[in-house]
Amino acid sequence: ALQAGIVGLPNVGKSTLFNALSNAKAQAANFPFCTIEPNVGVITVPDERLFELEKLVNPQRVVPATVEIVDIAGLVKGASKGEGLGNQFLGNIRNTDAIIHVLRCFDDDNVIHVDGSVNPVRDKEIIDTELQLKDLESVEKKISRLEKVARTDKDAAAGLEILKALKQHFEQGKNARGFSVNEKDREKYIDDIFLLTIKPVIYVCNVDEKSVITGNQYTEAVKEAVKDENAEILFISAAIESEIAVMESYEDRKMFLEDLGLKESGVVRLIRSTYHLLNLATYFTAGVQEVRAWTIHRGMSAPQAAGVIHTDFEKGFIRAEVIKYDDFLKYKSEAACRSAGKLAVQGKDYIVEDGDIMHFLFNV
Ligand code: GDP
Repeated sequence: ALQAGIVGLPNVGKSTLFNALSNAKAQAANFPFCTIEPNVGVITVPDERLFELEKLVNPQRVVPATVEIVDIAGLVKGASKGEGLGNQFLGNIRNTDAIIHVLRCFDDDNVIHVDGSVNPVRDKEIIDTELQLKDLESVEKKISRLEKVARTDKDAAAGLEILKALKQHFEQGKNARGFSVNEKDREKYIDDIFLLTIKPVIYVCNVDEKSVITGNQYTEAVKEAVKDENAEILFISAAIESEIAVMESYEDRKMFLEDLGLKESGVVRLIRSTYHLLNLATYFTAGVQEVRAWTIHRGMSAPQAAGVIHTDFEKGFIRAEVIKYDDFLKYKSEAACRSAGKLAVQGKDYIVEDGDIMHFLFNV
């Protein structure tokens, strides 16, 4: 499953946010959350389209798409040198597909800051430095491996050049996600060392109640500091989220959010952004037994998308019947779509689009 890791210094609000996510099952029936380990939760991706399909198909069950969230606590200054349980936590980050970096952007004298004052840009740099040091280690290891063969191996020599440039990039205190390299070279020389700072990131500015919409001086500073990173920034109040999470009724939550001038909870915005950040799309299967959302990477072909359901579907793929979501809503059933000529038969080169309703035919 796709996984996003929550990182940040101690006391910035990571657990509060994680717990709000984990209590969010109270939010709606379509929003269940289960904790598989104390710090790992599975969250469903809110998607209105599932409700619409449910109304039309009336299936026995509805299964939404999910993302796993991991609370990676314990990152402190010196983690890359193995301080605290640092190294173990860095290992946890390696397994994630995206990073949710929580930054404290609220004042509260009752909440002690590990470094004595509220300064999200400094905090971000502390965490970044630990991750960069770890990445630097990985790059140096590969450089010394390549140096042994570069004299006789042209490929290795080319890789060496790129990795040396990357090393310099880290030494300037920059993250790998901002390193410019073409895709082919990245795949060939960089992807195999599983860098931490190359992972896509969302910065969550944990703000007080009155700054959720406008931001504040701290979020301004964060914005300025990350402007070259091509990263998403969200303003969320973990404190508000934990209040919302325990509200039982949908109406209460809606009113509470409206009073704050918000349309959606931060939790929902966060899940959406994660999905977007990972460049994911959803296709549906819609049968009487089950209406289900499946997560794919954008650009996947029909057989690859079938492989998300089962590897045998990919291997034995023959063709796919595809109905566009809007057509399904308009004609209201597969049969009606078929007679209206809105059911397309597609082969193995078809690129699945967000919202496609797929029916795969395959050999077993
Ligand atoms: P973590 O160490 O990053 O997981 O931080 P916690 O989630 O445990 O939060 C540390 C302290 O900050 C707790 O006492 C929280 O109640 C408090 N806290 C978290 N988020 C907010 C917030 O948005 N506003 C305020 N005022 N306090 C918060």
